[in-house]
Amino acid sequence: MKKIVTILGARPQFIKGAVLSRELAKCATITEVIIHTGQHYDANMSAVFFEEMGIPTPKYHLNINGLSHGAMTGQMLTEIEQVLLLEKPEAVVVFGDTNSTLAGALAAKKLGIKLVHIEAGLRSFNMQMPEEINRILTDRISDLLICPTQQAMDNLELEGYGNIENRVVNSGDIMKDAVQYYSRFSAEKSKLIARLGLTNTPFVLATIHRQENTDDLSKLKAIFQGLEEIAKKEQVIVPLHPRTKALLEKHQLHYNITCIPPVGYFDMMELLKHCSLVVTDSGGLQKEAFFHKKHCVIARTETEWVELVQHHFACIVGSDPKKMVDAYTAFKTKESDFSMDLFGEDIGSTIVKEIQQLIDA
Ligand code: UDP
Repeated sequence: MKKIVTILGARPQFIKGAVLSRELAKCATITEVIIHTGQHYDANMSAVFFEEMGIPTPKYHLNINGLSHGAMTGQMLTEIEQVLLLEKPEAVVVFGDTNSTLAGALAAKKLGIKLVHIEAGLRSFNMQMPEEINRILTDRISDLLICPTQQAMDNLELEGYGNIENRVVNSGDIMKDAVQYYSRFSAEKSKLIARLGLTNTPFVLATIHRQENTDDLSKLKAIFQGLEEIAKKEQVIVPLHPRTKALLEKHQLHYNITCIPPVGYFDMMELLKHCSLVVTDSGGLQKEAFFHKKHCVIARTETEWVELVQHHFACIVGSDPKKMVDAYTAFKTKESDFSMDLFGEDIGSTIVKEIQQLIDA
């Protein structure tokens, strides 16, 4: 039996980790130890995903949060290293682009432990984003780079990864497996649509939490003005990220839209199924909109998921309220064929086969 350690810390990592843990549980030759760094800690940002998605309980909970980027990453690095020295795994798996990703990657690599990066090769080409820094640095030291799209493979090729000793594979996007598996149960498990009185009411689903939007007051205001404008035509439901909520409160900003606390995954699947379209700055939600056959208005100046824009399933509007409303209006009457295969099939099982090969080598 070989051991791997997976590092989880933030909401999107719980969702990706759920898929991997389900696949690893079917595998008789690998045992998984989970470290939860504590980056996201509110019950509705963390525990709800472990419960609903059946993610195994982390063996280690580091409870590191509420710090600046440097302090958080540094403390995680120190504590993850201690766990890895104790556990001595064959490989460490990190997901995505958070501080937990980078800290886990550095800790593993400096101990000479094989490193797997799931969601490798994504680029926004915006070095102001903390996520871009985390993902570039993690990719560079990974032994197995699991890319979600051909575009991610191409990005790495252009950066010269063909000359670096590692393995780069396109597995497809792990979040697609999550949507396919868990959305089968969500209608039975979630009562949110009825509770919000949305059974026969069209609505737009919106989430806003990227630091570049929340920490810039003019952008934050502009985005919420755009949402308020859309709300004059159709109800807008916003599961509000704690950071966004804190900033709206701090600046005493109030908008005529329906803000609700962050929701669990089953509730989110039902919101996606029932909404008319999505407005978001989330990476994950852009694809989930596509998986649920919904158009997406991206409240950012660029996206890592460029295929959605290239094929006109999504549209980039930045923080401009007029562009946001125009995109909303255009998408309301647009018919699209969402059957295009952009994100692969059987992603989790492909990833586990790759991890097996890495640790057997
Ligand atoms: N999500 C959720 N409840 C919410 C908001 C988001 O379950 O209230 C899910 C969403 O469906 C997606 C993931 O969280 O799977 C995306 O996480 P987030 O937007 O925080 O991060 P990003 O993908 O932008 O890194």
